[in-house]
Amino acid sequence: MSRVLLKLSGEALAGDKKTGFDEPIVTAVAKQVKQLVDDGVEVGIVIGGGNFWRGRTSETIDRTKADQIGMLATVMNCIYVSEIFRSVGMKTSVLTPFACGSFTDLFSKDTANRNFAHGKVVFFAGGTGHPYFSTDTATVLRAVEIEAECILLAKAIDGVYDSDPKTNPKAVKYEEVTIQEVIDKQLAVVDMTASILCMENKMPMLVFGLNEENSIVKAMKGEINGTRVTV
Ligand code: UDP
Repeated sequence: MSRVLLKLSGEALAGDKKTGFDEPIVTAVAKQVKQLVDDGVEVGIVIGGGNFWRGRTSETIDRTKADQIGMLATVMNCIYVSEIFRSVGMKTSVLTPFACGSFTDLFSKDTANRNFAHGKVVFFAGGTGHPYFSTDTATVLRAVEIEAECILLAKAIDGVYDSDPKTNPKAVKYEEVTIQEVIDKQLAVVDMTASILCMENKMPMLVFGLNEENSIVKAMKGEINGTRVTV
């Protein structure tokens, strides 16, 4: 694969603390992504914001404003992770769908392509730029826009199950599942808006656990027991 979009959840960056950043975890992710980049893969990154803020958690403030805070949380995450990536020797850029002054550059497909051509890892921060969406949807949207071959979904769980393995010890993991089945059975992969976008634009996904050692590199080589979501 020559261009992929890697989605990291916000909580994955926080480790056991569940909030903020766990630098050794992020550095380990950076070293794995560097292996892909050194092998000539163009890597785009979307990061969630759950380690700081989720728009729907506040019942007091207006949802639109709460979601703006969530989108800004993803910008903080991308600036942080981008710097850790630089510390291990990668070139990066952070693009947002809204102006953040000199902190980031505005997203466009042309800007993203220009950055990839310069060998940079491109961070797509700020979600879609709109409230009532998620970074799942931003992930699929950006993957489709930049014509990525596949989405790599690095999660706390190691694949897609027919039910929640935390509550059902008999839950069975899929080796492969179609996006139609994900939608019909409402399987927990990405949210419904993102799933439909995936289906309509035929964007495959590879779901695997971030906790497993070297899982991002292994997933790229097809050496991991995750789940392939086909289209
Ligand atoms: N968010 C948003 N629009 C987007 C992407 C994210 O409003 O396009 C906000 C929303 O408030 C969300 C938060 O950013 O709760 C963090 O994003 P993430 O996808 O991690 O949230 P989750 O799906 O876990 O709530």
